[in-house]
Amino acid sequence: MTTKKQESKEVSTKEKLIALYRLQQIESQEDEINRLKGELPFEVQDLEDDVEGMETRLRNLVAEVDDLSRKAKSQKDDIESAKQKIAKYEEQQSNVRNNREFESLAKEIDYQKLEIELCEKHIKEYSAVAKAKKKSIEECKANLTDRKIDLENKRAELESIDKETAKEIETLRSQAEEVAAGIDERLLSAYRKIRSGMRNGFAVVPVKRDACGGCFNRIPPQRQLDIRMSKKIIICEYCGRILISDRIEEEDNEEA
Ligand SMILES: [Zn+2]
Repeated sequence: MTTKKQESKEVSTKEKLIALYRLQQIESQEDEINRLKGELPFEVQDLEDDVEGMETRLRNLVAEVDDLSRKAKSQKDDIESAKQKIAKYEEQQSNVRNNREFESLAKEIDYQKLEIELCEKHIKEYSAVAKAKKKSIEECKANLTDRKIDLENKRAELESIDKETAKEIETLRSQAEEVAAGIDERLLSAYRKIRSGMRNGFAVVPVKRDACGGCFNRIPPQRQLDIRMSKKIIICEYCGRILISDRIEEEDNEEA
């Protein structure tokens, strides 16, 4: 009875390197397709963020204008009630028994008139602020419309590229999955880690003209010999990429 672990031990380092190199080639093809999209995915993301920010701002502005109109309404109610009080005091004035009562009511009336003035002042202030905010709302709406058009255009562009390349990507992914299934976890995760740190996405490179095919730094002859033997995984000491013999590259290309 053999376990999976024992089986994987039987895979030679050379076979591991070949599988890794195949995976690298398949994934590089996918990178190439993604490069077609250029900055589009980021531009779409930025525009989505912009639109979201503008929509939030717009909602806040509308809520602020609503709040101002509620406050103005409350001031108008206060004016109404002050006017009613004045009317009541004036009526009482015609029925007073002495001068002192008349004066006291006159003071109340003056006080209510001041209240009305103050309310009117507030209403004016609210209206000025609301006017400025409404202007901002109009500007914001116009900008939002423009931005949404940009977003729709960029999205459509991206979608059309995605649609054109979907089948190819799908094929490459299933090929990559198949190859990756034959590589042990540890090596695969090392490969992924190296690959994610490389701008060009190359984690496995052949030795070319006595140099690393990734960073082009010279590799000493003894090390080149070790690489050619394909007996162990050798990492470029300059860039950290996995180095393979150019023979593996040639063999693999002949097969493909
Ligand atoms: Zn290197």
